Amino acid sequence: MIRTYVGPMFSGKSDSLITIYNKIWNKKLVLAFKPKCDSRDGASIKSKNYDVEIPAIYIKDLKEIKKHIKGKNIHTIFIDEAQFLTGDVKELVKLSVVDEIDFYIAGLNMTSEQKPFGIMPEILAVSDTVHTITGFCQECNKPSTFTYYEAKKKEDVLVGDEGYISLCQRCLKKHMLKGKKK
Ligand SMILES: [Zn+2]
Repeated sequence: MIRTYVGPMFSGKSDSLITIYNKIWNKKLVLAFKPKCDSRDGASIKSKNYDVEIPAIYIKDLKEIKKHIKGKNIHTIFIDEAQFLTGDVKELVKLSVVDEIDFYIAGLNMTSEQKPFGIMPEILAVSDTVHTITGFCQECNKPSTFTYYEAKKKEDVLVGDEGYISLCQRCLKKHMLKGKKK
């Protein structure tokens, strides 16, 4: 089973993972992963809204998961910030179907340029269920589905929250028009 949570920044994707983690009785059967490039929180899945954090292992590519679960009795795997990972989603499908591991994955579906983010489209394609989470627009409080970068950006992948805001469609349009005029 692969269940994926997508949405803009600040929408509570990690919260969704932690909520599920909290309900799991036997945490010995759980492993969590997050991308190496996102080391701002240390090796765990965290949220401002929860005291509980999920201890996680840094990986770069999906193929590394197999190595970490070898010889262990793992039933559930959490992955946060999955958009920064590389690899073939066949690895996930195999582990889900053959090894009967349940996956709970969170990630950004879109970049702040409104493009599909990394391997997220592939992950969504092989997910059994996809939950699209909305945040709150930082301008008007309507449900937000977009992440927007306010400052000038050098690299495509910029890790961290700074400079990013979550916007609804209408406010995104306003910001984009304003950006063009600059
Ligand atoms: Zn808005």
